[in-house]
Amino acid sequence: MNLSDESDLPPDDSDNVLVFTRRFDANADITEMRNFVKAPDAKSKNRWCTHAKILVDDHLRQLTCRLCGKVIDPFDWINSVTDGETKVDWELQTLRREITDHRSGLEKIKREELNCRERVKTLQFKLSDLNAEIYKANKELAFLTERIGQVKALRGKNS
Ligand SMILES: [Zn+2]
Repeated sequence: MNLSDESDLPPDDSDNVLVFTRRFDANADITEMRNFVKAPDAKSKNRWCTHAKILVDDHLRQLTCRLCGKVIDPFDWINSVTDGETKVDWELQTLRREITDHRSGLEKIKREELNCRERVKTLQFKLSDLNAEIYKANKELAFLTERIGQVKALRGKNS
């Protein structure tokens, strides 16, 4: 450093910091010598997080999951949203097909109901015709039975 008066600077306590860290990690000095050190796992690291709540940082130009802290690749995120929309699209098409199928099924049932009503009406007419014939036949039968009775009575008198 090229400062005129080093006494104005806060005291360099990096040695103290190292001593302090060593109390917790005896190999902290080895880690210090490395060029690349893995960041510790996020506290809320959750392998099953779907990263549904996103923090958009326009300074860092970075998307971060607010639930698990993972940095989200914007393309991956938009791609997953697109996949979701594709799924919804497919589901809506399936639903529309089902509605069309149900409608044509309903039309068929309505036609069948109409046919059945027509058949019931026709059969009711036939039944009423048959009842009229039965009534007529019963009357004839009663008349003939009476006649036979009269003939038998006459024969009985004659013999
Ligand atoms: Zn997440």
